[in-house]
Amino acid sequence: MGGTPTDIQLLDANGLRLDGRRPDELRPITIKADALKRADGSAYLEWGGNKVLAAVYGPRECHPRHRQDPMKAVVQCKYNMASFSVSDRKRPGPDRRSQEISKIISEALEHVVLTQYFPRTSVDVFIEVLQADAGTRCAGLTAASVALADAGVPMRDMIASCAAGKIDDTIIIDLRKEEDNCGQADLPLGIIPRTGEIVLLQMDGDLSIEEFYTALTMATEACHKISALQKEALRKRYSVAPEEVSDEVEEAIDAIAHGEEVDEPEEHDEKQEES
Ligand code: ADP
Repeated sequence: MGGTPTDIQLLDANGLRLDGRRPDELRPITIKADALKRADGSAYLEWGGNKVLAAVYGPRECHPRHRQDPMKAVVQCKYNMASFSVSDRKRPGPDRRSQEISKIISEALEHVVLTQYFPRTSVDVFIEVLQADAGTRCAGLTAASVALADAGVPMRDMIASCAAGKIDDTIIIDLRKEEDNCGQADLPLGIIPRTGEIVLLQMDGDLSIEEFYTALTMATEACHKISALQKEALRKRYSVAPEEVSDEVEEAIDAIAHGEEVDEPEEHDEKQEES
């Protein structure tokens, strides 16, 4: 929540928001796994007006060395907002806000990555916000989880994240910029969908205890919807289109289905083919 509450009316007479959404409605979300060829894993996410790239490297040698842990891997996230991502040019480089967001995302991800299998290493996560319209920490964490899965980093689950908030005394989910700036509260949440554990929870503004629990419930429901989209993105990335399966593979699948033995496929020798 960047600004202070103002007289601006954020809900109309029908209880709809500035962009016509109901209080419990998410902005449109698309997630693409494997968006960058050079990273070990990556994801590109569009969420309303947010455009976010996440890239993952590792587990690899930990730098700086003094951060190494002999018992486990460390997750090091760098969140960066491009100077052209907001309407007023943002000063490039790290600032207190990006350091805070990098820290909370690193800590959230350390709860799901099976760090004990990779002592002394680092799993590096880069989040680049190309376009920002509030909720970028949730969008970044959601994209980073898909990128980690795309990199094949062993995890308990992918974290799903979404904020709830309060505008015109009404609890809503997934705040856009005006609602974030002029609303009464903002509550970003990150959960492990499989267990329901909370791995990120922040609050800005004022909520009564009842409002807090309503916001938590609504944000949790939204996280489960986002979790389904994350899984769908991975399914799309790793499913093979029927036309991509060669006749040879199809015959082998058929044979296995009929309980027949299948020979190991011969090594494809490119050099021999060229000569
Ligand atoms: P989040 O993006 O996670 O909601 P904030 O609540 O800090 O984080 O920021 C809300 C929104 O305010 C951002 O998504 C962005 O649109 C805008 N914003 C944040 N920092 C700046 C900045 N330095 N300059 C301009 N706009 C900013």
